[in-house]
Amino acid sequence: MLTHDYIALEEKYGAHNYHPLPVVLSKGEGVFLWDVEGKRYYDFLSAYSAVNQGHCHPKIVDAMIEQAKTLTLTSRAFYNDCLGSYEKFITEFFGYEKILPMNSGAEADETALKLCRRWAYDKKGIKENEAKIIVCEGNFHGRTITVISMSNDPDSYKGFGPYTPGFIKIPYNDLNALSKALEDSNVAGFLVEPIQGEAGVVVPDEGYISKAYSMCKAKKVLFIADEVQTGLARTGKMLACDHENVKPDILILGKALSGGTMPISAVLADDDVMLVIKPGEHGSTFGGNPLSAKVAAAALKVLKEEKLDENAEKLGNLFRQEVRKIKSDMIELVRGKGLLNAIVIKPKNGKEAWDVCLKMRDNGLLAKPTHGHIIRFAPPLVITEAQVKEAVKIIEKSIQEISEERF
Ligand code: PLP
Repeated sequence: MLTHDYIALEEKYGAHNYHPLPVVLSKGEGVFLWDVEGKRYYDFLSAYSAVNQGHCHPKIVDAMIEQAKTLTLTSRAFYNDCLGSYEKFITEFFGYEKILPMNSGAEADETALKLCRRWAYDKKGIKENEAKIIVCEGNFHGRTITVISMSNDPDSYKGFGPYTPGFIKIPYNDLNALSKALEDSNVAGFLVEPIQGEAGVVVPDEGYISKAYSMCKAKKVLFIADEVQTGLARTGKMLACDHENVKPDILILGKALSGGTMPISAVLADDDVMLVIKPGEHGSTFGGNPLSAKVAAAALKVLKEEKLDENAEKLGNLFRQEVRKIKSDMIELVRGKGLLNAIVIKPKNGKEAWDVCLKMRDNGLLAKPTHGHIIRFAPPLVITEAQVKEAVKIIEKSIQEISEERF
C-alpha cells in the first residue's frame, strides 16, 4: 500500500474528527519520523509534546517491554507491586504528598476539577453545588463535555451543549480580570496553562503566573496548573511554573509522562487537597496500572538523566534566534519558551500556514498549523544544535519557496 491507500482507508472507515497533514508515518527514532515510502522527516510536533524524550526511547521501550511480559493490568480492585514505588518516585520528583494516576490529559483535568469542587465543599465551606472555577479564554484542556464547557473556541464547544455550569471565563494574561473574578466568594479554583499551547503558544507576561498564584492564595483559592503540554522539560524547566518558582496546589501532567508510548496522566497535590476524595468516588480501570507505573518512572528518569530541560532552554533560544534571522514577509511573529515555539504566518498570494506545512513536509520537516495562521514548532527535546540549524534551513527554504508560488 502507498500513502494515498492508507489515507483512503482512514477516510472511509474512521470518523472524520481530524484533518491530518497528508503524510503516513510508519517509523520513529529520536527526532526523526519515516513515512511508508521510506522518506525521513524531522518531527517538529512531537505528538503535541508527548514525545519529549524522542521517538521510541530505548530506556522507556525496554521498561515497557519488560513489564508487559510480567503484568499489565490488575485494575485498582487489587494492589500491584509497581504502583506504590512509582507513586513514591513521582511525588518526590515533583515535591507533592500524593498522586492520582489517570490516562489521558482530559481525564486528568476532569480529576483536578472534581478535586477542586470537593475541596470547596469540604474545606473552604462553599455551599454544595455552588463552587465556581475560574478558567481562561483561549484555553485548551481536552475534549470531554465538562472540559469543552470551559472553552470559548466554537470548534471545541459548538453543537455539543448543554454545558457543565460553574466556570467563570476571564481573558488570559489579565490580572485585573482575575482580581475581579476572585471577589466572588464561591470561587474555589483558578485553572490555567502556564503557556497556552493549543491557542498558538501564547506566552503570558513575565510575572503573570507568580502574581496569579499569590492572588489565589490571598483568597483561599486553589491554583491549578495544566502542564499537560508545557510540563516535563518542554519549556526549558521541568515545569513551566518553575520559571516563576510557583508550586501549584494541583498539578496536571500527561503526554510526555509516557514519552509517547501510551496514555499516562497524573494529578499531583498535597494531602489537604488530595484526601478529600474517598474510596469509590473517583477512578479509572487503567489508571495506575503496573505497565504505566514502570513506563512513567522510566520516562521521568530519562528527562532528568539526559538533562532535557537544559537542552530545551539552550536550543529553544537558538531556534528563535535562527528563525528570527529569516527574511520573509510571511513571518509575522516568532514566540515561545524553550522548545515550545510558534511562528505566526502572514498569508501571501493566497498561501497560508497549511501551505507552508505542506511545503515543509516536502522538504523533510513535519509541523502542523494551530488556529489557522500559527505553526507550532516543538521537536523532541533530544534534538542537537546541528539538527536545529538544519531544521531552520528547511523552514527558511519552505517559506521562501511558498512566497514565490502563486495561487
Ligand atoms: N491539557 C492541555 C494543556 C493540552 O494541551 C491537552 C492536549 O493537547 C490536554 C489537556 C488534553 O490531553 P489529551 O488529549 O491527552 O486528553
